[in-house]
Amino acid sequence: MVVKIKTALISVSDKTEVVDFAKSLSEMGVNIISTGGTAKKLSEAGIEITSIDSVTGFPEMMDGRVKTLHPKIHGGLLALRDKDSHAAALKDHDITPIDLVCVNLYPFEATIAKPDCKFEDAVENIDIGGPSMVRSAAKNHKYVSVVTSPVQYSGIVEEMKNNDGGVSQETRTDLARVAFGLTASYDAAISSYLNEKSGVEFPERVSLSVSKETGLRYGENPHQSAAFYTMPGSKEVSVCSGELLEGGKEISFNNLLDTNAAFELVKEFDDPAAVVVKHLNPCGCAVDSDIAVAYEKAYLGDVVSAFGGIIALNRPVDVDLATIIMESYNRFGKANGASGFFAEVIIAPSFDTDALEAIRSLKAWGQRVRLIATGQIDRNAVDTNEYDVRCLVGGLLLQKRDMVAWEPDQLTYPTKLKPTEEQLEDLRLAWITAKHVKSNTITLVNGKKLVGVGAGQMNRVESGLIAFKHAGEMSKGAALGSDAFFPFPDNVENAAKAGVSCIIQPGGSKKDEDVIAAADELGIAMVFAGKRHFKH
Ligand code: 5GP
Repeated sequence: MVVKIKTALISVSDKTEVVDFAKSLSEMGVNIISTGGTAKKLSEAGIEITSIDSVTGFPEMMDGRVKTLHPKIHGGLLALRDKDSHAAALKDHDITPIDLVCVNLYPFEATIAKPDCKFEDAVENIDIGGPSMVRSAAKNHKYVSVVTSPVQYSGIVEEMKNNDGGVSQETRTDLARVAFGLTASYDAAISSYLNEKSGVEFPERVSLSVSKETGLRYGENPHQSAAFYTMPGSKEVSVCSGELLEGGKEISFNNLLDTNAAFELVKEFDDPAAVVVKHLNPCGCAVDSDIAVAYEKAYLGDVVSAFGGIIALNRPVDVDLATIIMESYNRFGKANGASGFFAEVIIAPSFDTDALEAIRSLKAWGQRVRLIATGQIDRNAVDTNEYDVRCLVGGLLLQKRDMVAWEPDQLTYPTKLKPTEEQLEDLRLAWITAKHVKSNTITLVNGKKLVGVGAGQMNRVESGLIAFKHAGEMSKGAALGSDAFFPFPDNVENAAKAGVSCIIQPGGSKKDEDVIAAADELGIAMVFAGKRHFKH
């Protein structure tokens, strides 16, 4: 059924494009009811409106806490027009049916995102009347259209123009579906704020406020459908807050996962750093005083795996760096066993205009690569309250994010040999990288460059062997990182055979004494980090 819009109620906090929308409705003969600020804005634009207080017979009161909460409004929204008793109630109480509600809510999430937001301000920005109207209208979508975002305005106007001022059932149902999603996520944001303020980490019920960023072509595999959602309140620079620059191929589910992994690792470093990730694990990671050198070292960590990888940098990309990345294979790869190179994604704080032009003009893969500009990384602006969510079939596991990495105060030195300053630098990189590799993890670092990774093996010895094999000669004098303790001395023995000079691991095994004795006997300096970094 098409319902002709005769009366509309407009009450919006975000007044973007509301004047044009109201004008179009008014031109189609719609009677517009409006609340304080919205009414003022529309009147100033010369649009004739009916003020809310003249409908309710009450002034807007209590600092706007009570404006539209009145039977004249909710009766007008909830009445079943073709039910005799409802029609009679409308008549008896002189209630005008409202056919369209245009509401967007007090900006609760934007308010709490402000660093100096006071609790009282947050509470005052909990919209009550708005969600109530949205819910009333959405419940009664058999008759009422509920418009909750400026992006919907033009579609509604278009449809009304083509339907003699009417809106179809299909559209009303669609608007209601979106509206309930909005109020649910609005309440989720309020609930999570109050949980946070009350220090409740894992409340009885958890609702996540996330909004759809975009649909994706498919999920992890082509037969899985997928979409990408972001958390509107998130303050942290991340792949989700980054801007996808124009020109590349459509970003995929796996790209986003891998880019997140790459960027979260590169974010750990203050010095210029570069990371190359494949299948969620870093195959290259390096730190240097020069970002171009850091990139070159990261690429050289594993030129074979870097093919089709994700590159993350913590410094802006200028044309020189862009050129080095694009020419990676010719410059460093050929001589090191690579059989070509392209990158799926490059993520960095920014890309200079000429760097962008250079990349986009590269026919080989520059036109395909997705470029994500995140803006300046601020290592102090982190969202410690965000959950790390894992899915089970039929449930979820929530945990707080692993926010610790290098903690110099926590380190202990149990072996006779102590690491040199230089070795400690490599141990640092080995440790931080190990945090970002799927367990069981062994990382090898030489000269502030990741030279070997054993990832995701079902036993730690196997991970070690993979790392030593990959690093080859570079194992000599390397620093080894292990995400969890050694239950036996076997890994230490294998490390010594490969030529490893120092090891960092959490410590805390029953066999620590045997492990330390083996390191002492084999001339290895060992550091206990005191924490483990399982990544399942
Ligand atoms: P305006 O700028 O028009 O004065 O206010 C618009 C805002 O008021 C909208 O965000 C709308 O959701 C909200 N609103 C409408 N009615 C009520 C009410 O009765 N109580 C509260 N707290 N907010 C309302």
